[in-house]
Parts: sequence; structure tokens; C-alpha cells
Amino acid sequence: MTPHARVGILGGGQLAQMLADAGNRIGIASTAYDPTPDACAQTACPVMHQPFDDVDALTAFAKSVDVVTCEFENVPMIALETCAKVCPVRPGPHSFYVARNRIREKHALRDAGWATADFVEIRTDDDLTLAAETLGFPCIIKSAEGGYDGYGQQRVHSLDKLRQAWIQMNVSQAIVEKLVEFSRELSIIGCRAPDGTHITWPIVHNHHDDGILLWTIAPAQNVSEALETDAAQRLVALMEQLDHIGVLTLEMFDTPDGLVVNEIAPRVHNSGHWSIEGTSASQFENHMRAMVGRHLVIPELAHTSVMVNLLGSIPDLASLRAVSDTHIHEYGKAPRGRRKIGHVTSLCHSSSDVASRRDKLLSVIRPDLVAVQ
Ligand code: AMP
Repeated sequence: MTPHARVGILGGGQLAQMLADAGNRIGIASTAYDPTPDACAQTACPVMHQPFDDVDALTAFAKSVDVVTCEFENVPMIALETCAKVCPVRPGPHSFYVARNRIREKHALRDAGWATADFVEIRTDDDLTLAAETLGFPCIIKSAEGGYDGYGQQRVHSLDKLRQAWIQMNVSQAIVEKLVEFSRELSIIGCRAPDGTHITWPIVHNHHDDGILLWTIAPAQNVSEALETDAAQRLVALMEQLDHIGVLTLEMFDTPDGLVVNEIAPRVHNSGHWSIEGTSASQFENHMRAMVGRHLVIPELAHTSVMVNLLGSIPDLASLRAVSDTHIHEYGKAPRGRRKIGHVTSLCHSSSDVASRRDKLLSVIRPDLVAVQ
């Protein structure tokens, strides 16, 4: 593959937009593929608007690029398989196979030495009784496939409610997890190149509101060097086990007994958006580099950063601009519900600046949240 190869991106949302933007800055062109006519990646690259099950269109797309990647893990298998007949698909099929099913994901994580929530696999009604006996209540039932941002899961307090939730889900496989008692949610992102070289970004602290990421503090405060090193090493071991190429994200819980991994995302991740301004080489740039086999750039930490998502509406931008060193990203998506339509990253001047900066941003973006952690 030439260093200036064209990357095809399945999906044309904001992750594709930021991947294409990063590629444009370093001379890597992209084409996205998304059935939605107003897919926001079109501000950064051409987008083919065809269905994800149109084999002829997918074949033409794959022929027009040198390598195909994805901005979301639930891309239909037919799309991945069709493209893979024409050109490399990165990350490889094993990463998608594992990450798109919570049961396989848990086993892969445990094989790589990570702790996960205790869980019971659910395929029949009897499994629900076993889950209730083994895990107790409250617990969380999650569909094995297709869930995201808190969708496809329910917290339940009794066997009756568990049965109801399983029936409502109407799926063939689910997982029931014990509730993990954590002090905060963290994530770590790494990137691996085709030649096996790899980099990692520092562990970050994430706060979700109703299942959707609201803010990230990066790097997370009060993480010991030993924990940071251990997490990075085990992330690399997982990337090697999966023969993963590109960015891989682990979402984790910080518990008194150590880190417990909640899930894997085999792609660039919302908790890494801060890396655009906060590090010398973002997750987007390094993913694009990995796609075409260019060397990865070690992400030197430039600034401790606070990232806040804009969910469902654009707030008063003048007030946000008044917060110094704040970078506003609008994706150009129509506001709707709690849709991710933008984010801001604000650069901190000292560790004492972090919480006050986050609260200043939240007072503009989410004035309804009186008390934040
Ligand atoms: P998920 O869809 O698995 O990413 O879960 C969405 C959010 O639900 C997580 O970010 C956590 O805040 C919460 N959550 C998920 N699983 C558990 C668990 N086993 N114990 C406690 N909280 C959980």
C-alpha cells in the first residue's frame, strides 16, 4: 500500500468526519459509505450514499479505496465480508467478531487477563433463574448484540422483572451482569499498526448521564503510575491477541479491587476526542496512519483537558467561547433527542483548574445539572 492510500470508512457520522479531517491534514484521503443522505462526514470527504446490504455498491466502494475501516462495530457482516473480498478491512474480522457480542467480549477480556463483571449467559428461561441465584439483585440484563449508549439493557431488582425484561428484549442471547460498585468510570485507548508497533494514550475519567458520555477528564486524576502501566500493558496484550489494527478502546470501572472492564470498542471512541487538542497526535490521526501502514506517532501529552459532549442541542456558543482555550466542534447534525451533535475540549492550565473548568462548561451546556460529581 502506498503511504498516500485512500481509506474507505463504513459509516459517515462524526467519527468518520474526524477520521477524514485528521487524514486530510496528513495527506491520507478518505471516502465514507453511509445510507443517510445528510451523513455529517460529507464536510470532510466524499460519501457514497448506498444501503449497507447492497453488495454491488459495497464492491464498487471497496474497489475505489485501498483499505476499509469502520466507525461503528455493529456494521452489518455482509458489508465487512463484501469489502474484505476486495481489499484489507482493518481492524480485522476477529476484533469485530469479539466486540459485537458481549458474551464473546467477556471471554476475550478474561483470556487477556482483565477482570470483568461476574455474568451469566442467557439463552433460555432457566438461565435467568441461574443468574438470579448466582448474581443476586439488583443486576443488569444486556442484549448480547446491538446495544449501545445504554440502549438494549435494563437494571432489574427481582426475578419477575428479569423475566419481563428478557421477554421484552426479544433476542436469542443476552447477558446478566452483577452490578459493579465503582468509584468512577475510566477508559484507555491504544492503537496498533500492521507491523505490530503500538501506542497508548493515558487513562481518562468518564462521566455518563443516563448511559451517554457527558464529560471526560484527560488524563484521569489520581491514577498511579503502576496502574497506568499495567492497564497499558494488558491493553497491548489484548490488541495482540485479537491481531487488532487501528484504535481499540476499553471502557472500565475503577473499583477497590482494581480495574474491571465493561466493554471493548474496536474503533476511535468518544472518550478520545480530547486527544485532538490535548495530545500531539490524536486517536484519529493514528488510526488513519495504522490503516495505511504509516508509522504511528507517540501521543505526547500537551494539556490536561476537559471534554464535554453537546447532546441534543447547541448551547450558547458565545458563553463557551468566553471560557479560555476552549475548542468547539460542531458536527453539522440536526439536533434531535439526546443525539451527539458536537463536543468541546477545554485545555487546563493546572490540575487545580480541571474541576472548575468542567463546571464552567457544564453551567453553559447543562445548566439543569446542579450538582456534578
Ligand atoms: P454499556 O452499554 O455496557 O456501556 O453500559 C452503559 C453504562 O451503564 C456504563 O457506562 C455504566 O455507567 C453502566 N453499567 C453498565 N454495566 C454495569 C455494571 N455491570 N455495573 C454497574 N454499572 C454498569
